[in-house]
Amino acid sequence: MKTIGVIGGMSWESSAEYYRLLNRYAKARLGGHHNARSLMVTVDFAGIEAMQRAGDWDGLGVQMAEAAAQLERGGAQMVLLATNTMHRVCASIEAAIAVPFLHIADPTGAALKAAGVTRAGLLGTRYTMEQDFYVGRLRERHGIEAIVPDESGREDVHRIIYDELCHGVVKDESRCVYQRVIEDLKVRGAQAVILGCTEITLLIGAGDSALPVFDTTALHAQAAVDWAVED
Ligand code: GLU
Repeated sequence: MKTIGVIGGMSWESSAEYYRLLNRYAKARLGGHHNARSLMVTVDFAGIEAMQRAGDWDGLGVQMAEAAAQLERGGAQMVLLATNTMHRVCASIEAAIAVPFLHIADPTGAALKAAGVTRAGLLGTRYTMEQDFYVGRLRERHGIEAIVPDESGREDVHRIIYDELCHGVVKDESRCVYQRVIEDLKVRGAQAVILGCTEITLLIGAGDSALPVFDTTALHAQAAVDWAVED
C-alpha cells in the first residue's frame, strides 16, 4: 500500500473527515486491522482564508507548494489537497512535487459520467462556483456541464461554509437553505448535485437532497485509497 499525503486544515473539520474516510475505505478494501498509510500537513486556515479574500492566489500557490513538498519529503507517494477551492492553485502544487497529485474534480467527474449525468448543480465557495478552474475542468476533461445557484443562493452557500461549517457548526436552518438551493438547481435541469466543498458533507447527506448527491470529500478519499492499494 502506498502512502497518501494530505494537505489539510482548510478547514480541519473536513480534514478530520478525510482522515476517517481514508482509514474506513482502506479497511473496507483490505479488511482486518488495515488502515490507510498516510501523512497530513495541516496549514493554519486563518491566514489562508484572509489571502483568499484578498485574492492573493500567487501567495496561496507558494504555500500549497511548500506543504506538498513537505509531504513528499516525509515519504508521501501521492498528494491530495483536501479542499476544492484551493485547487485554483493546483498547478503550483504539481510543479513542486515529483509524485502524483490527485485532483478532486477528476474522481468527481468520473463518478458523474459513470452515472450518466451530463448537467450537474455545483455547490461550493464563491471561488469554486464563480471562477473557471473547477467548472472548466469538469467541462473540458469530463464533459460535465456544471450549473451554479443564482446570486443569492451563492451568497448563502458561501456564507454557511465559512461562518458555520468551517467552525464545525451544523444548523437545521442552514440545511433547509441548502435544500431550497438544490431544489432550484433541479428545476433548472440539474440531474445531480456536486457537494463541491469538503465541509458540505457535514450538512447534507443523500437523504437530504432532492437530487442525487456527489460528495467530493468521499469520492476523493475513495479514489486515493483505490490508487494506494491497486498501484
Ligand atoms: N473546504 C472548502 C472547499 O472544499 C472551503 C475552504 C477553503 O476555502 O479551502 O472548497
